[in-house]
Amino acid sequence: MAAAAPLLGMVIAGPEFRLNSVMVLKQESVVVHGTYGISIPESVQQIEFGISILTSLKYPKEPPTLFCNDPNLPVGDIDRHIMDDGSACLGVYADIMTRWSLKSGIVNYLEGLVAPFLVWQAYYNAHQKPPSWGERPHFAEGITEFYAELLGMNRHQAVVEFMKLLARKNRPKGHEICPCGSGERIRRCHRELLYNTREKIAWQYVAKDLQAVLRDDRSKY
Ligand SMILES: [Zn+2]
Repeated sequence: MAAAAPLLGMVIAGPEFRLNSVMVLKQESVVVHGTYGISIPESVQQIEFGISILTSLKYPKEPPTLFCNDPNLPVGDIDRHIMDDGSACLGVYADIMTRWSLKSGIVNYLEGLVAPFLVWQAYYNAHQKPPSWGERPHFAEGITEFYAELLGMNRHQAVVEFMKLLARKNRPKGHEICPCGSGERIRRCHRELLYNTREKIAWQYVAKDLQAVLRDDRSKY
């Protein structure tokens, strides 16, 4: 990490440790804390941001959480994907978990997730609007968009029905009705897509994303 981010330090922080202006640790945790410099495309200058990365007790099974700790990363600015506690919304849970399971570790987290987030923020600061690239809409809409791309389909209801089968612990049986809405049985319809996608993403992650989507659907109708 020292080579990738010389201004960040890893500490064992006790309770009362400040992650940012609003968040204080409740229990002893390993925290990566300090300043992270990113290079901006088409610019020689580095831009630096104050950040804290909190590892959970389940680390490295679970990825850490990025907390913004910088006046240029305003806490609670949802348009910037920064929550009320200053934690950063880096993307869809299943997407992050899948990437994390392929490549874990703090340096990969910094380079694969934190750096793109901060480049996005630097653009926002310079132009007072989000860049056209790299943004997913928030929450449920972003989640279904991720699964829609993954499955190659765009009808909301079909995506949600697929998610229900992807979120199931046991593999759905071939004689069940296909979630695409064709009325065919799975074995005569989207069997391959369903089973292949289940290989790619653990059902637990989908279950978590599905909860968020269903919660949002309920609040809309
Ligand atoms: Zn089908």
